[in-house]
Amino acid sequence: MSSATTATTRKYQLFIDGQWVDSDSGKTFNTPNPATGETLAEIAEADKSDVDKAVSAARRAFEGKWSKLSARDRGRLLYKLSQLIEQHAAELAALETADNGKPIKESLYVDLPQVVENFEYFAGWATKIEGETIPVPGKMFNYTLREPVGVCGQIIPWNFPLLMAAWKLAPALAAGNTVVLKPAEQTPVGAMELAKLIQEAGFPEGVVNIVPGYGETAGAALAAHPGIDKIAFTGSTEVGKMIAKAAADNLTKVSLELGGKAPNIVFADSDLDQAVAGAMMGIFYNQGQVCCAGSRLFVEESVKDEFLGRLSDKAGKIAVGDPMNKATQMGPQVSEEQLNRIKGYVDIAREEGATVVAGGQPPQLDEAFQKGYFFTPTIFSEVNNSMRVAQEEIFGPVVSVISFKDEDDLIKQANDTIYGLSAGIWTRDITRAHRFAKEIKAGVVWINTYNMFNAASPFGGYKQSGYGREMGRHALELYTQVKSVWVDLSGRPIGWFGK
Ligand code: ADP
Repeated sequence: MSSATTATTRKYQLFIDGQWVDSDSGKTFNTPNPATGETLAEIAEADKSDVDKAVSAARRAFEGKWSKLSARDRGRLLYKLSQLIEQHAAELAALETADNGKPIKESLYVDLPQVVENFEYFAGWATKIEGETIPVPGKMFNYTLREPVGVCGQIIPWNFPLLMAAWKLAPALAAGNTVVLKPAEQTPVGAMELAKLIQEAGFPEGVVNIVPGYGETAGAALAAHPGIDKIAFTGSTEVGKMIAKAAADNLTKVSLELGGKAPNIVFADSDLDQAVAGAMMGIFYNQGQVCCAGSRLFVEESVKDEFLGRLSDKAGKIAVGDPMNKATQMGPQVSEEQLNRIKGYVDIAREEGATVVAGGQPPQLDEAFQKGYFFTPTIFSEVNNSMRVAQEEIFGPVVSVISFKDEDDLIKQANDTIYGLSAGIWTRDITRAHRFAKEIKAGVVWINTYNMFNAASPFGGYKQSGYGREMGRHALELYTQVKSVWVDLSGRPIGWFGK
């Protein structure tokens, strides 16, 4: 039996002002293990009044202890946190897999190292956030101060629970902000475990507050809260629009990292082995629950049959099953709702005239996993770019293959989407690759690779994939504001109205 099925129910309270507390309502909710359907944890359910308390605590911390700490000390706390996460990586990875369903190989070797990397990277930035002096004319001195924005509300999704927390918390804290973080209701466990390490690292109370709960209640209360200065959101485009509208009432600053329908483009001159592996990485990684997934696979007509043959052969061999098993390559989808959504799109694809060349149904698994939310790697061919399966984000292991002949037409089709998060291209022609990188309307372009990330490299969307860039120095733009200071050096009255 897998360790996932033997886990006992864990319990977590809210983390507000450095304390573990029940929610005001006393309500709790359960998060299941998506591989088995069994309850993994029981969590206190935050609602508006709890969010109010968390925002007040974050405000007190921002005005108080946190603002008095030196940049070096902030950096040291972040670095300490990165080390604590690294020390607990194995157990955090196992919990992440139990909560989200992603294969342990991914949690342990990708998610956790990247979480550590992000905290480490931004720990270094804390002491390097600087203003500038501006060469203004006359006997004047003008300089800028780069200051924290204040109290930040951060709402994160369930697909990379700990990593999304890291992408949001690390730059916000490095820049001197305080935070109220709301994890996704499907996957709150990682954030609650992180809270324990934040406590252990010694962050002053109230600097980070974590309020698990539902989107329509806790999330909406946070987005509309007049006491926050900035809201950062990662999730669906639909909810992103609601957040932006709620924030507009208070003119709260907003950054959004939303959905995608990325074109992943294979030219006939590419190394096909590399391109097939890249297409798989693009769509089947994390069960396809990736906002930058290469879900529209454009393949040049002359190699389409060969490519599709190789791709479906390999997709059929992907090991789907117990995510705690190190040999597993695909675990369950995060929830029954997501599983049903995927099944719905398989029906839509068939109705639209696409052909299912691989997958299209749940796999046959052992007894222990029959209540899990598993699906098989699925490939639709004979798709055209105007079909719903080419335009709507499915967020599952489902790829739509579209063939093309002409490069100009390809670029038009690739850009013909409301989204603009990422894009991939496979070719040996460097001129074409860079031409594409320039012409595609997307925030990230991968050439002969896919799903590459680094804490130092910016990530974010064009068009309805959102605004603002996470990671790298660009993330600090989201969490700082600039103050321009003028100083008279002449010692004389301003002459404008006469002496
Ligand atoms: P998905 O549809 O993939 O579950 P969502 O965009 O709904 O993604 O969820 C991402 C995050 O947004 C989660 O933390 C969720 O609780 C939160 N959320 C959902 N609806 C709202 C809302 N109306 N206001 C604020 N946050 C929300």
